[in-house]
Amino acid sequence: MINLILFGPPMAGKGTQATMLIETYDLIHLSTGDMLRAEIKAGTQLGLEAKTFMDRGDLVPDAVLVGMIQSTLSSNPDAKGYIFDGFPRTIPQAEALDKGLESLNTSIHMVLSMEVPREELRERRVKRALASGRTDDDPEVFEKRLDNYMNLTFPVKGYYQERNKLTEVDGIGSEEEVFARLKAAVDSLASDQG
Ligand code: ADP
Repeated sequence: MINLILFGPPMAGKGTQATMLIETYDLIHLSTGDMLRAEIKAGTQLGLEAKTFMDRGDLVPDAVLVGMIQSTLSSNPDAKGYIFDGFPRTIPQAEALDKGLESLNTSIHMVLSMEVPREELRERRVKRALASGRTDDDPEVFEKRLDNYMNLTFPVKGYYQERNKLTEVDGIGSEEEVFARLKAAVDSLASDQG
């Protein structure tokens, strides 16, 4: 199995790159943002609860996310591996993910951290807000998401750095340029493992 985390602030381009990576490496794309939006669309209880947090730019409580990830891991026993996109976003989520993978006798192999400066994120937000219609792309909500990223999610980088799993990748450039950087990092991992 090969398990990757795509890490980075909102608007870093994780979803776009995850789509390109799953085609190349035949992995399962696990985007917690997409999963939560699907729950909202389906009008489930979980979706209703999550929506109030998401609309404010806040993180959905860890227990909800951990439950969602655990059920996905256990319902795909034959997976070749995963790309986690938008998860883990807190240290408790990272710890829960480690435990969940351990029970499948596997682990996270690499965390690809997409580095994009704040000003560029803000410029991208303006463009995406027009196309996405997502309420969490509104300017005030987006600022809240950036704050939450710095306070709650950024420390997750240190968690993986301490475990020698972190690779930083420049997230500025065309989709293809960024993809080439990510692919080079993943391929170096494959050749390390022989
Ligand atoms: P983006 O792709 O813009 O970074 P996402 O689609 O990943 O945003 O997430 C949208 C929202 O869903 C987040 O702002 C948050 O409210 C919620 N969410 C997604 N993943 C998580 C998570 N792992 N923990 C808590 N909340 C989450």
